[in-house]
Amino acid sequence: MSYQRPKGTADILPGQSELWQQVETIARTVLERYRYREVRTPLFESREVFTRSSGETSDIVTKEMYDFADKGDRMMALRPEGTAGVVRAYVENKLFGPEFAKPYKVYYMGSMFRYERPQSGRQREFHQIGVEAFGSNSPALDAEVIALAEDLLTAMGAKSLKVAINSLGDPESRAAYHQALIDYLTPFKDELSHDSQVRLTKNPLRVLDSKDKHDQEIVANAPKILDYLTPVAKAHFDTVKALLEALGLTYEVDPDMVRGLDYYNHTIFEVMSNDPVFGGGYTTILGGGRYNGLVEELGGPETPGVGFAMGVERLMLLMQGQEVAGDLPVYIVTISEDATVAAAQLAHAIRLQGFAVDLDYMGRKPKAQFKSANKENAKLVMTLGESELEAGTVSVKNMATGAQESINQADIVNDFKAVFAQLTEAE
Ligand code: ATP
Ligand code: MG
Repeated sequence: MSYQRPKGTADILPGQSELWQQVETIARTVLERYRYREVRTPLFESREVFTRSSGETSDIVTKEMYDFADKGDRMMALRPEGTAGVVRAYVENKLFGPEFAKPYKVYYMGSMFRYERPQSGRQREFHQIGVEAFGSNSPALDAEVIALAEDLLTAMGAKSLKVAINSLGDPESRAAYHQALIDYLTPFKDELSHDSQVRLTKNPLRVLDSKDKHDQEIVANAPKILDYLTPVAKAHFDTVKALLEALGLTYEVDPDMVRGLDYYNHTIFEVMSNDPVFGGGYTTILGGGRYNGLVEELGGPETPGVGFAMGVERLMLLMQGQEVAGDLPVYIVTISEDATVAAAQLAHAIRLQGFAVDLDYMGRKPKAQFKSANKENAKLVMTLGESELEAGTVSVKNMATGAQESINQADIVNDFKAVFAQLTEAE
């Protein structure tokens, strides 16, 4: 019997996991500058948390959810996205209370699950890094979140990015647009894809998001939401654009963009890349927007919100070829078998002082041990043979300079930091 990982999942092995760690470290550093703090919510929730927030007609709910009844017959689902769980936690923990700072800013990173057709940059278990900011309706926060999105991707080395924005307006704008869209699309009903025919009656805005080529041709001439914004919604969008310009951020207004989840309103945005790894055309790496109304939808008080989610796998495609070379401070080569205990003691003492050490466990000859040390990019190679054992010393070679010295084992045990500094400072 041979086992395979489930379709659409990946093993992130040493060699790749370093890049993942680097992405996570950069993300934490950048997010901290914008005063976001980490939240960790469950990988599964009551199914209704997601149907309520994504909307019954969203792709996520209709086709992509990993849902199941647990042994107590409760309907559960693996999280397909991060926002719903964070909003649920925000409401359940009463984070809207007066004792919490406003806006309340959080970020998350972790696995999401969607039953999709796997292909490059599209998996069934994938990873997102996302942010949510609750409690402010200020267009300045929309602009800041968009700036953060671009800052994050740029800090990770992503190039050839494009920021696209649009406004879905307030509920009043949406209602006016809704009717105009139905009026425009209905004559084309028979030409639309099956999915879009269903969307037309249930949620016409979704037709704009269709991936079907012919649907897209029809949609190209549809009325634009921007022409239906109320004065308040238009003012909000104009301020966001003015702020982006003031921050020196380049963006494009894409009047056909709607985004996949039902809960968005006002500003929505995507950051895309046309890097050749995506095989031509623009691919969305990060998407987000304002979702006033969602906190209420999940049982909380009226609270505005804005956020985004970035797909880590798609970011990784952009970072392909960037390897994170790990350096090793010390490799200990044991020349005589008697040195095994002393080598283990030294390694342990050095590790307890905060340095990485490696040594041989495969009974290799000294020559092969030196080879391993080179492979691991060791800065210092310590050798322990008969004479060193007798003298209580160790012979240490700086691999960059070739300089070799005899050091007392006791000095290493007492203050390896000082020894390391002394042996490497000449470089
Ligand atoms: P798409 O139109 O590509 O299906 P989406 O609108 O469903 O994207 P969002 O729900 O906005 O995507 O998720 C934000 C980001 O998460 C996407 O831009 C993408 O980078 C990533 N993402 C979404 N679904 C997947 C997936 N199945 N595999 C890998 N990454 C994904
Ligand atoms: Mg999708």
